[in-house]
Amino acid sequence: MAVRLAQRLMKTQTPFLCRSYPMLVTKEKTEDVAHTKSSLQKKVTVTDIPQAQYGGRHAVTMLPGGGIGPELMGYVREIFAYCGAPIDFEVIDIDPSTEGNHDLEYAITSIKRNGVAIKGNIETKSQTLTEISRNVAIRNELDLFVNVVHCKSLPGIPAHHKDVDIVLIRQNTDGEYAMLEHESVKGVVESMKVVTVENAERVARYAFEFARQNGRKKVTTIHKANIMKMSDGLFLEVAKKVHKDYPELKHDNMIIDNTCMQLVSNPHQFDVMNMTNLYGTIVSNVICGLIGGAGLLSGRNYGDHYAIFEPGTRNTGTAIAGKNIANPMAMINASIDMLNHLGHKEHARVIQEASYETIVDRGIRTPDLGGTNSSTDVVHSILDILSNKRVNWPHGNFFCQN
Ligand code: ATP
Repeated sequence: MAVRLAQRLMKTQTPFLCRSYPMLVTKEKTEDVAHTKSSLQKKVTVTDIPQAQYGGRHAVTMLPGGGIGPELMGYVREIFAYCGAPIDFEVIDIDPSTEGNHDLEYAITSIKRNGVAIKGNIETKSQTLTEISRNVAIRNELDLFVNVVHCKSLPGIPAHHKDVDIVLIRQNTDGEYAMLEHESVKGVVESMKVVTVENAERVARYAFEFARQNGRKKVTTIHKANIMKMSDGLFLEVAKKVHKDYPELKHDNMIIDNTCMQLVSNPHQFDVMNMTNLYGTIVSNVICGLIGGAGLLSGRNYGDHYAIFEPGTRNTGTAIAGKNIANPMAMINASIDMLNHLGHKEHARVIQEASYETIVDRGIRTPDLGGTNSSTDVVHSILDILSNKRVNWPHGNFFCQN
């Protein structure tokens, strides 16, 4: 990984701020397709890799991960089977205690074959320096350069703030997650933060394009350019240049520490946020904490070819595993995102409506949302609501059955 990154950096020899880079415009209309052809993809030739589809059914890689991952995936499969969602899962368990990367390589090959994956958080138990985080390795290997978390309040959920509606757009492969650390002399450790024009532009472009296509008004770039003048300075500089192609949108910027304070005191001032990798994980956790916790929101990871869907805050939840108290909604929402991405809009819609009715109207909620229900109570309510709904899918009408 380090070697690949070094090779990539060596190719970029022109000084960052002197490089001119194209200002491109994508033409896609909807949020779902915005990622499928990034700005850079328009310039360089990238061939679309089709999603694996057999007889109208999509094959999707499922990586349950550790902690609560396997039980949450079980609920997703139960709901999909119940309403006839045309998805076949290729389930791959990655053993966190092994030192080798065989499982990981197999998982990456599977995602490359299928084009799409749903995943829980994968633990990396080994502390050896050569053993990198499997989650980061998957995102890097598949070049999933952007992570999108739509942080939208649900009515009636106990929360510090109501009516929050922020779209968080995070650079997903570079920044502080380069995992290039070394001890230069005894007692001195250095960690490299990598910002490239290419990836800063791709993520900024995604943020502005998303804002344009979804009727948003403002993009705020989050940084610490007052201290990290070169790295965050570049990220901010690139965002300002990309903004010139989106004159109808407002662009402002905010320092990460102030951002956390502003989020806690007045989150309604934010619309779309554009940020580097580490700030993204901090800010997504802050916002999720403000509007309902780790068990609610989903996150989407996109590159030019592949997409992975997962819970927004990427928690393992080991301490609550096997207790039937984990909130299944974040993973169910990830599965709804995945259905939408694959074009199974009708199945996505009915599951989304049944979930909303369960949590908001029926008030069936796990303890993290202030409820007393179990995970399976939530899932059974969703199945109960689905049993009354008729699902139309391309191969004719289908009634959910008890
Ligand atoms: P562990 O994985 O051992 O629980 P942790 O403290 O790092 O360790 P995370 O997995 O990062 O915990 O999760 C953060 C918090 O969010 C924990 O309190 C966890 O129980 C809670 N949490 C995460 N996912 C869910 C969920 N789906 N439902 C309810 N609570 C959750």
